[in-house]
Amino acid sequence: MKPKAVALVSGGIDSTLAVKLVQEQGIALEGLNFKGLFHCCKDDAARTSAESGIPITIVSETEEYLQLIESPKYGWGRGANPCTDCRIYMFGVAKKFMEQVGASFLVSGEVLGQRPNSQRRDNFRSIDRDTGLEGLLVRPLSAKLLPPTKPELEGILDREKLLAIQGRSRKPQMDLAAHYGITDIPTPSTGCMLTEDAVANRIKDVLTHGDHLDFWVAETVKLGRHFRVTEGARAVVGRDEAENLRIRDLFAGSGERPRPVTLLEPDDFKGPAALLIGEATPDAIETVAGMLLRYGKQGSGEARHVRLQSRDLDETVAFTHALDDAALDALRIPSEHVPGSFRPDRRSAPRAAAVGTGA
Ligand code: SF4
Repeated sequence: MKPKAVALVSGGIDSTLAVKLVQEQGIALEGLNFKGLFHCCKDDAARTSAESGIPITIVSETEEYLQLIESPKYGWGRGANPCTDCRIYMFGVAKKFMEQVGASFLVSGEVLGQRPNSQRRDNFRSIDRDTGLEGLLVRPLSAKLLPPTKPELEGILDREKLLAIQGRSRKPQMDLAAHYGITDIPTPSTGCMLTEDAVANRIKDVLTHGDHLDFWVAETVKLGRHFRVTEGARAVVGRDEAENLRIRDLFAGSGERPRPVTLLEPDDFKGPAALLIGEATPDAIETVAGMLLRYGKQGSGEARHVRLQSRDLDETVAFTHALDDAALDALRIPSEHVPGSFRPDRRSAPRAAAVGTGA
């Protein structure tokens, strides 16, 4: 029987090439792809499947993943990306999958030195050690620069046919892709929203105000314009009809949340929907209504009506004050990197009870 391995596939060129290199040594492969909460390239795994013909199983992240974003053992990168912890999580899931499907090792498209936060030699060691995968995780693109793995030592894989790519240049991968006749090459990107300044700042805002990332909160930080309205409340304001719909959906799914959630929608004018998450004081409501008037291009002075809905409220209220740009900017959670902003303690212990008590 052919030896079998599991490959972590992201849909990027590196994991596709890693699959090709192992496949041509006669190894049967199954792919595992993470349908990440914060990944924006969800369909790309199909490209690897099409290129290599391997079956791919897609798995979703769990609350444990959200917890490690909050309290990463190895810290965040520039954004809110806990890359080493994230890789440890993914390889931990892949290890269980490997055992389930009777595979004997894992394959990853990681390239030594390609990404500063997750693809350094010491990261590789931490990942292998923390997942219990020492000797069982093959990185075919950089294998010759790394200690031999079990399948190499046992002659299942010929180390000489593996590669010694390192660094940030994509040229060796482009050459190899040409060798394999791969022409549909995705642009190199993490595809991960946790590396984006805007999303990272929103997550930091949530955490510094005593809230927690759960699935619902994670969905809110991915859309709209964001404002810190008061110490106890933030607002998410839709930028287009698709986001307004998503905001209504999130409100519909907010019924059992411990913190109040209020939906604000224009009643007699066209404008965005907004969520006020947290304490809905009269001032906070007036502020968010003022945002709706401003983004709905309503001037101050004339009464406009806004429908307010929450768990125990459904009423339409007149407002006359549209926020001006300076007021909006003062409340806006920035979209660009804020040096020295909140970071979780490295190696802080995960808070077992934290997830699920979110904003
Ligand atoms: S960029 Fe995002 S998906 Fe990739 S390892 Fe880092 S946290 Fe994980």
